[in-house]
Amino acid sequence: MNHPTDILVIGAGFGGLTAAALAARSGHSVRLLERHTRPGGCAGDFALEGFSFPAGATVVTGLEPGGILRQVFDKLAVEVSHENLDPSIVFHIAGKSLGFSASVTSWKDALADNFPQTAQRYDAFWDWSHEAGGSVYRLGAALPSLPLQRPADVRRTLPAVSGNAIRLLPLLLRTVRSQQTRLGALGEPAIDAMIDALLMDATGATSANCSAVQGAIALDLYRRGCQRVEGGTGRLAMLLVRAIRREGGLVQFGEGVRSLAPTRSGWIAVTDGGEEAWARTVIANVPPAGLDLLLGRRPRLPNAADAWGAFTLHLGIDATGLAELAPYHQVIGPDVREGASFVSIFPSRRTGGARWSISVSRHVRAGPWRAGTDGQKRRCLEQQMLDDVATLIPDVRERVHVLRSATPATFERFTSRPGGFVGGVVQRRGVVALLAAGHRPERGLILAGDHYFPGQGTVGTALSGINAYRDATEHLGKKAII
Ligand SMILES: Cc1cc2nc3c(=O)[nH]c(=O)nc-3n(C[C@H](O)[C@H](O)[C@H](O)COP(=O)(O)OP(=O)(O)OC[C@H]3O[C@@H](n4cnc5c(N)ncnc54)[C@H](O)[C@@H]3O)c2cc1C
Repeated sequence: MNHPTDILVIGAGFGGLTAAALAARSGHSVRLLERHTRPGGCAGDFALEGFSFPAGATVVTGLEPGGILRQVFDKLAVEVSHENLDPSIVFHIAGKSLGFSASVTSWKDALADNFPQTAQRYDAFWDWSHEAGGSVYRLGAALPSLPLQRPADVRRTLPAVSGNAIRLLPLLLRTVRSQQTRLGALGEPAIDAMIDALLMDATGATSANCSAVQGAIALDLYRRGCQRVEGGTGRLAMLLVRAIRREGGLVQFGEGVRSLAPTRSGWIAVTDGGEEAWARTVIANVPPAGLDLLLGRRPRLPNAADAWGAFTLHLGIDATGLAELAPYHQVIGPDVREGASFVSIFPSRRTGGARWSISVSRHVRAGPWRAGTDGQKRRCLEQQMLDDVATLIPDVRERVHVLRSATPATFERFTSRPGGFVGGVVQRRGVVALLAAGHRPERGLILAGDHYFPGQGTVGTALSGINAYRDATEHLGKKAII
């Protein structure tokens, strides 16, 4: 038997990377095995014909002082070059363009300028989302551990509970739409669609289904901090890899884990190449169906109503003569549930801005996509997304050097997420993060990633990684540094 590692981490998604980096910083022996050739999973990146593209995530939140990512990188003593954005994103809807500003007053003014007859009826709703969202934000920044399953969860969560947090309890029973109805904030189609687009991005649900607690923070998150990381989100993943290695941890790419079994003193993992890796504790950064595969069970895929797939279009364009554009845009069509394109624009530094990488993403149902049988649907979505980009760059089609799209089948292949489901569990009422699946299926086996509390996004998965790290550390009889 080779020497057991203190902590074996399976998967270099944001949850696994965060857990591994904190564990290595604490002095544990750490080994991270990643099946793909690069880190980051859905928040990683890839290069194509001289252009660099994000695999999925482009916008970062949580690097502001006190934010969850800031707390992690401070603990690791890692500097992150980034730019704070205000406005965070620009909405394009019904021929109008509106920047989503951090100041609630400026946002209300912009709405009033564009929708003078109706905007005012939403004022109390924006005030509510800012206040309730602030309470949820502060609760999250205190790094709670939910659901409450063990004394450790209570101990970690109590400091997060304040009078403000308790006032959120009634919202657990409500949806964002019911809150809109109570406050009379409904009826302007464009504003309702912008609300839905913000909610879809962060929670996977529109106002009619989205939990009011999750919805409040989804509507307010960009106000608390919205960052563009220099070099893209993939750069954050790479910084975490470097932090693990600097502290003596081992990170291996192109080395997946195909099975996992308990032993008397820990776990034994078998890699895709047949190597046996022993560990006292395992942190698996995989969705529930990925865990099933590791444990030799039939994978239980989520219900279609509880999870989404993504379709992304990546364009490398000649940007000669184009005026600078804001990095993040939401182009909203008639059906927000599948029709809003999130457009991210990154000028290439190496070409002095003469070439831009543009990535567009939309929610799609994961089920019907299968590699090789999706040609016509794929072409159709590519054209719709090009139309959306043309809202910002009218002659984009003539400028394209590189065009690639990714379907749920692509995500399944490159992120090992069974069924190609991404973004974690849809935060509808009744499935809110508070009721998320527990992350300790067996002794010494801990889960991280966007299917566990608090849910999706780089910042959410970082918190899942913090909790996985804290559990692993306690399992090893040590004290956590965060
Ligand atoms: C199109 C799109 C756009 C998004 N935009 C944003 C955004 O702008 N901002 C934001 O914050 N979030 C965004 N998200 C969400 C965010 O990217 C994800 O919620 C988050 O990155 C998921 O992290 P995770 O820890 O669950 O790991 P994952 O991203 O699922 O990564 C898991 C990793 O584990 C590896 N792995 C899996 N199984 C094994 C195994 N058996 N052995 C070895 N390795 C394995 C995979 O290869 C993968 O690298 C977006 C997601 C998508 C799909």
